Amino acid sequence: MTRDIYMDHGATTPLKEEVLQEMLPYLKEIHGNPSSLHRFGREPRKALEKARERVASALGAEPEEIYFTSGGTEANNLAIQGVARALASRGRHIITSAVEHHAALDAVEYLGSNGFEVTFLPVDEYGMVDPEEVSSAINDGTILVTIMTANNEVGTLQPVEEIGRICRAKGVYFHTDAVQAIGHIPFNMEQMPIDMLSLSAHKFYGPKGVGALYVRRKTRVHKLQFGGGQERKLRPGTENVAGIVGLGKAIELVTANVEEKSRNLSRLRDRLVEGLLELPDVRLNGHPTRRLPGNVNVSVFYVEGESLLLSLDMKGIAASSGSACTSGSLEPSHVLMAIGLDHQAAQGSLRFTLGEGNTEEEVDYTTEAMREVVERLRKMSSVYKK
Ligand SMILES: *Cc1c(COP(=O)(O)O)cnc(C)c1O
Repeated sequence: MTRDIYMDHGATTPLKEEVLQEMLPYLKEIHGNPSSLHRFGREPRKALEKARERVASALGAEPEEIYFTSGGTEANNLAIQGVARALASRGRHIITSAVEHHAALDAVEYLGSNGFEVTFLPVDEYGMVDPEEVSSAINDGTILVTIMTANNEVGTLQPVEEIGRICRAKGVYFHTDAVQAIGHIPFNMEQMPIDMLSLSAHKFYGPKGVGALYVRRKTRVHKLQFGGGQERKLRPGTENVAGIVGLGKAIELVTANVEEKSRNLSRLRDRLVEGLLELPDVRLNGHPTRRLPGNVNVSVFYVEGESLLLSLDMKGIAASSGSACTSGSLEPSHVLMAIGLDHQAAQGSLRFTLGEGNTEEEVDYTTEAMREVVERLRKMSSVYKK
């Protein structure tokens, strides 16, 4: 029997049927432009505001603080480049970490080569940023600190509340990329010292190509695009109505009973970790406990991650590797390098990201499949002499 086991929820998640059902009318009969004053505009306009309320309510925020974007990448760019544009006359220093997603890292690097000064904070062996280092990196010219809530590769959770408190005390804006964290960690923006937060629907069973940026009231952000007056002039362009409706429904579903769901998913994750660590010469990457409930990242020594992936794929298991294969060159991940792995350990790394559909049976099947595949690949390996 061929299996169909999806363990790559960190890359994207399947669209939920209930989400699709809410979206469909906005792709079919309700075709109006939300900005139209006639009756065709009324329903899509109402739908946008309902979605905005749902996102706000899921975050403990106000609807006026939610701006829809085309996804996590745009939300990060809007926050980072938007603050840089708004505050360039006040200061030109930005602080981030070495393990951010490229959607934040590359935006900051771009600013770094265009008149801004950037501090890339190192992380410890678990991928964690030290809040003390954030504190001492802040200077008179610092305008923004951007540190992700949860790492997409190794799953490590950052001490964002502590970092946020430090930023607030020093009067510096704090943005967090929470794309991986939504649905796993509860948020309450009213109480959390976070000025801006990015999220993306397709990482929590919503549609692709839609996300949002939370912007605390009175935070100064400049728009990046010019056009109409949509999204209170911060993000012009006719809204992706169906996508936004899907985002609203998806976030409502995924943030219900977060603690309980996270506990269950963590149990599944720990079962997989235990199984994998029983294999010889395998290490867990990322923090042992302060990590995303669905994230398992391991280095399998003396084996290529890519070969592992392909062999697992033949057994019906979809995972991903730590070496982002960009333009054909096997460049080891900046995250694995930042936590101190050598090239060999980074090349042999594998990420399983569990989600709502996965079962204990699938976890056990995966552990067994890994045992077989790893043994076979090592037998063929010239470097493995055990
Ligand atoms: C997926 C992801 C993004 C990018 O989101 P898109 O909606 O795919 O643009 C940004 N940050 C993190 C941490 C992610 O996992």
